[in-house]
Amino acid sequence: MPRMSAALICVLLVGCSASAPEAGAPVLYEGARLISGGEVVEDAAFLVEKGEFQAVGKRGSVDAPAGAVRVDLKGKTVIPALVDAHAHLGWTLLKENRTDTNTYSKENLTDHLKRYAYYGIAAVRNLGIDPGEAAYELRANPVPGAALLLTAGRGMAMPGAGPGQIYWRPVAYGVSNEAEARAAVRELAAKKVDIVKMWVDDRMGTVQKLTPELRRIIIDEAHKNNLKAVAHIFYREDAKDLLRAGIDGFAHGVRDVDIDDEFMALIKARPAVWVIPNLPDRGTRPEDLELAAGSLPPAQIARLRDNPTKPNMDLYNVQARNLAKLSAAGVKIGYGTDAGVAVGWTAHQELADMVNVGMTPAQVLLAATKTAAEIAGLSKLGGVAVGKSASFVVLDANPLEDISNTRKISQVYLQGEAVDRAALSAGFVKP
Ligand SMILES: [Zn+2]
Repeated sequence: MPRMSAALICVLLVGCSASAPEAGAPVLYEGARLISGGEVVEDAAFLVEKGEFQAVGKRGSVDAPAGAVRVDLKGKTVIPALVDAHAHLGWTLLKENRTDTNTYSKENLTDHLKRYAYYGIAAVRNLGIDPGEAAYELRANPVPGAALLLTAGRGMAMPGAGPGQIYWRPVAYGVSNEAEARAAVRELAAKKVDIVKMWVDDRMGTVQKLTPELRRIIIDEAHKNNLKAVAHIFYREDAKDLLRAGIDGFAHGVRDVDIDDEFMALIKARPAVWVIPNLPDRGTRPEDLELAAGSLPPAQIARLRDNPTKPNMDLYNVQARNLAKLSAAGVKIGYGTDAGVAVGWTAHQELADMVNVGMTPAQVLLAATKTAAEIAGLSKLGGVAVGKSASFVVLDANPLEDISNTRKISQVYLQGEAVDRAALSAGFVKP
């Protein structure tokens, strides 16, 4: 499917510079299939004004106020813009394909947030490796036409034992006793972080795992400060311990072994607990390269094609089985990419991976919109409904029939404004 030209989009949609309605004029979008909140409305209509949905229903049931612009979306499918509840944006210099100790910057974060907007993602929550003030500044002053940013600030682990990459480790708090752990959480609370992140992992026996006692202290102090706590996990027995300790959510599924009855009993006893699966890489396919080509210079696409990653399918398969089991049991499944090195396009790869596990496209879309927004605390996002932010994606094909249709993006709107995807892409792919 060739990418639509800007001129063709102008024919199909109002909102291009030549025919743009006056800023703030109400716009009635009519005729699309609307998938939102687990429901499908054929031949839908919705009215957008002041960056929000003012009315949503079947075509004919929504009145257009005087002066409203009508946009015909017949043949299109509309979904709420996605929310990525687990990422690490701001580090990789994508133009140079390089990440190290000093590549994180506000400019780089902004670039990544624009890439997210390009791929239909309205908001992202960075989990634990945001040094300095940049993430807080961007959260307070979002860039128009870019995704919103939430942040956990600096996450917590034993000293030198946090995130996977060596160059990220100094960013995390290293805590080794109760006083340090409580002080770190209070410092985060003073910065009004969106969540408290901890790493509970020994990295295949190479670092010291956060002790059960410290896990409890961090969770306790977070809750005392009205913050939720999320854990990076690897081992099933740690996940069980964290469930007993009152954890609010998991930034990964269990990755060492299949989950058992005891795990299921523990998680079902706490229905508010959510799991962000972010499944591991199962290989970059030709359709992924086609998608990535919208945001990477051709030389990088060639490099990705010529040096395919060697996925660890054992690691994928155990997580696939565990996710299928959690989903079937009705556990709250969220959505996140764990993006750090590859940014933006992997959001659609993750959707496809979740369907590959056995979740239905409808379940996966719900996880990536409504549930992800809910677990990130973004009440204005995740749905096409009255009072919510008019952040939505117009697709050329129905993702319920084939989840890869989320990649056939006709247009992205954030807070009611069309994202200029053609201009963004031109800037991204320039070597
Ligand atoms: Zn992560």
